[in-house]
Amino acid sequence: MLIETRDLGVRYVSRQGAAHAVRGVNLGVDRADAIGIVGESGSGKSTAALAMMGLLHRDAGCRVSGEVVFDGQSLGALSPSSLRRIWGNRISMIFQDPQSALNPVMTIEAQVAELIARHRRHDRARSRSIVLHQFREVGLPDPEAILGRFPHQLSGGQLQRVMIAMALVCEPEVIIADEPTTALDLTIQSQILSILTRLCADRGVALILITHDLAVVAETTRRVAVMYAGALVETGRTEDVLLRPRHPYTRALIAAMPKLGETPKRLSAIAGSPMAPTVDSPGCRYAPRCLWAEGPCATAKPVLAPVAGDDGTDHAVACHYADGMRP
Ligand code: ADP
Ligand code: MG
Repeated sequence: MLIETRDLGVRYVSRQGAAHAVRGVNLGVDRADAIGIVGESGSGKSTAALAMMGLLHRDAGCRVSGEVVFDGQSLGALSPSSLRRIWGNRISMIFQDPQSALNPVMTIEAQVAELIARHRRHDRARSRSIVLHQFREVGLPDPEAILGRFPHQLSGGQLQRVMIAMALVCEPEVIIADEPTTALDLTIQSQILSILTRLCADRGVALILITHDLAVVAETTRRVAVMYAGALVETGRTEDVLLRPRHPYTRALIAAMPKLGETPKRLSAIAGSPMAPTVDSPGCRYAPRCLWAEGPCATAKPVLAPVAGDDGTDHAVACHYADGMRP
């Protein structure tokens, strides 16, 4: 694996107590591969992504356990300066809200130039031509004009294209995209996602795509991980998980997906709400919402294990009744 988490746990600590946002997550991606992470709001996707960037290890408000290993090195063991050499250069991240990732009082050109200068020794002309090329690749019309603008002068779609270009400009090995199009109009969302996934595939960049949109996952990723209340409840090849889901939560997610022509619902369309990260439970954290929960579900934690009959496809599920669920 190019980047992987090993038993990753993250707790946010405050005077109010600890919120266990990520629990025992083992997740990784190979070079040139694409994995999707899905799950409703609050399931720990962004926290896992930030931890995979190595952004939380030194955060005073967090306790990170387990490891994130990138290209053989444990990110938690790296110095801040080593991490800065990796960010934007070998691992890039694209956030949901490009406005907050950009500096409002700097032109786009100044911000991209600064990013390139941090990692490469190009002169101004060379750096500018790399950026213009990248802007054309992400489908930005009139890239010269865009360079001179400030973030507020661009549309949401243009800004997210700029963010994709910036993520790619130093030729990273991995891009972690956290709901990169959620803030955009539906029609633009799919255009932007297809640009992102195509460019990553063409250039052999590993992609970790966090989204609440299962249709996007179906189209663009080879594997998918379903997160619930901080933990992985189902992982496998995208077609196995989406066509033959084993976990009741995955089934509910798929059932909540909008049908063609319907207005999309958020994943919160599933009845009930997830167990709070401040609460501990001896049993399955989905049990209070699960239609099939019985005896052991309340008392024993199901572990993520290969499904019966799995022939090396790595389809795994964390459910006591994964192999004998009532229809
Ligand atoms: P997702 O991206 O799947 O919506 P998050 O990773 O943002 O989930 O959040 C997971 C849990 O951690 C949530 O319960 C959220 O309230 C909590 N959380 C997220 N960020 C913080 C923070 N900075 N401080 C305290 N709790 C947080
Ligand atoms: Mg999030």
